[in-house]
Formats: sequence, C-alpha cells, structure tokens
Amino acid sequence: MRETPSYRGSCFCGAVQFAVSGDPAAQGFCHCESCRSWSAAPVNAFTLWKPDAVHVTRGADRIDTYHKTPRSYRKWCKTCGGHLFTEHPGWKLIDVYAAAIPGFRFKPGVHVNYQETVLPMNDGLPKFKDVPAEMGGSGVTITEESRLVA
Ligand SMILES: [Zn+2]
Ligand SMILES: [Zn+2]
Repeated sequence: MRETPSYRGSCFCGAVQFAVSGDPAAQGFCHCESCRSWSAAPVNAFTLWKPDAVHVTRGADRIDTYHKTPRSYRKWCKTCGGHLFTEHPGWKLIDVYAAAIPGFRFKPGVHVNYQETVLPMNDGLPKFKDVPAEMGGSGVTITEESRLVA
C-alpha cells in the first residue's frame, strides 16, 4: 500500500496555504467564458477533488468567495488576489487550479466546454462541447478537425 499522496498549494503571497491529498476525480482543461473571465487566461487547467481531500492549513480568514452562479463558488486570497480554488456544490467537487499545486503532476485527461474555446488545443484528448453527461451536460464531443462554430 502506498502512502496517500499530498500536495501543497498557496495563493500568490503565501498568506493562504492548503493541501490536497489522495488522487483527483478528474483533471483537464475548461474553456468556458466564465473561467476565462475569472482567471484572465485562455483556459483553466483544473483538478477536481472531493471536498474532504482539500484542507486549508493557513489563512482561512483571508479567503473570500464570489459566486456568479450557484454552480461555482470561486475563492481567492483577500491580501493578494491570488486564486485558490472553486467549489462546485452541485457536483460535490472542488476545482483546485492545477497551477496552484506545483508539486502535483498535472495529467490532463479531458477538455470541457470546448464549444467556447478561444485556444484550440489539438492534443488528441476528448473534447466535450459542454460537460460529460454524468455531470449534467450533453455529453457531446467535438472532433478537432470539425470544431463547431456557434
Ligand atoms: Zn495571498
Ligand atoms: Zn470553466
């Protein structure tokens, strides 16, 4: 039996520190407009964890939350503005941004909300138009060659 892996993360200034343990439920890239606008980046590299896998170890009082929709509670550090993670209550999962846990070996397995992409990534991974059916989406995938244009 291997030891449960644990990965440390922090905000930009270090006031907030956290750890995630175990293995993520899923990991990949989200191309949605909300992630783009929130992160100021063309895609969001996500890792999804069960809530009990994520522990804030320092600076919990420095965390603030914004939710534009009830699907995503986005968290950041009040001191530096650095992003931490997003809670998805409906899925009972927390998206810990892959870039916030540098010790974790990010291995993307899927692209979601690819119909909204501004940065096509022809990497051979499955690309969902929105999200997989088991997560409440259409489950429709988009081929890299014939990307749907809205
Ligand atoms: Zn900070
Ligand atoms: Zn997104």
